[in-house]
Amino acid sequence: MIMKVRSEEYSYVGLQLLDLRLPEAHEMKELIRSKMNMAKAGISGEVRVDRVFNKYSFPFEYVVLHDVSLELYGKFQMDTLFLTPYFAVILESKNIGGKLSFKENPSLLERANEEGKVDVFESPEVQIERNTYLLDEWLKQKGVTIPIYGVIVLTNSKVRVIEPPTKYNAILHQTIPVYLRNIPREKQCISSKDMNALSKEIITNNKPYFPYPMCSRWGIHPNDLYTGVLCEKCETFGMGKRKNGWNCMRCGHVDRLAHEKAIREWFVLVGETINNRQCRKFLHINSHHVASRLLQSMDLIRTGTSQSNIEYKWKW
Ligand SMILES: [Zn+2]
Repeated sequence: MIMKVRSEEYSYVGLQLLDLRLPEAHEMKELIRSKMNMAKAGISGEVRVDRVFNKYSFPFEYVVLHDVSLELYGKFQMDTLFLTPYFAVILESKNIGGKLSFKENPSLLERANEEGKVDVFESPEVQIERNTYLLDEWLKQKGVTIPIYGVIVLTNSKVRVIEPPTKYNAILHQTIPVYLRNIPREKQCISSKDMNALSKEIITNNKPYFPYPMCSRWGIHPNDLYTGVLCEKCETFGMGKRKNGWNCMRCGHVDRLAHEKAIREWFVLVGETINNRQCRKFLHINSHHVASRLLQSMDLIRTGTSQSNIEYKWKW
């Protein structure tokens, strides 16, 4: 049974919006774009893992929890947690194509692409080792002792393993069912009732990673970003407010609610609060009254008592 699906991809959404508003020449542009592409690849890899679990079921009781973030000496995140009355498995998925070498001393993952260019990634073995230790401790605090296995799931169809990992298995996502079915189920450590209760407790304690506002997260000055309301049709920041809605000066596209997206972008990228002046500057509006009306039309949290200190917050 799948008890927890993946949460909204805050990081990917944030990186996409940041990329749109960051000028090409900015010193962080390349890094942000590569992080965005990695996040996108990660998501498509996870979708492949999800499909496997949606398609197959197992001949014993189990619970699947996708994208679990728990806290113990800091946060730790697991791509997928497979829980049974006999054991738990942490599945760490990697959507990396090319020739992979799992190196030791120091532990790293090296990938050589077709042209022979080598990229280096954090070792998934280290990630699993850390997560296994922390999950074990976390479960013990809840009074549960159960064997925990870890496995690296390779989700890219163009992957070839040159040097396999030594501490953990690396499998292709298509073989997840076979791998999980073959783990011995000798000793029942918890009852099915306890397993379900534990899953609920994991979901209650789940604390998804929240990276907003992105400018603070990445040390980018908000003044470096393009301001203005984005035209979704021609992807330029030049929409002007008229009676019939927002009009693109370039392609003529009209969007009545373009300000809602722009104000949301403010909260994703720039700040936890927005005031009238900031709204006018970000949306390129001259009128205090119009900015006030737009902000009030949205379902935001309003604080402040006098005209001068009114601020709005997004309800995340
Ligand atoms: Zn346009």
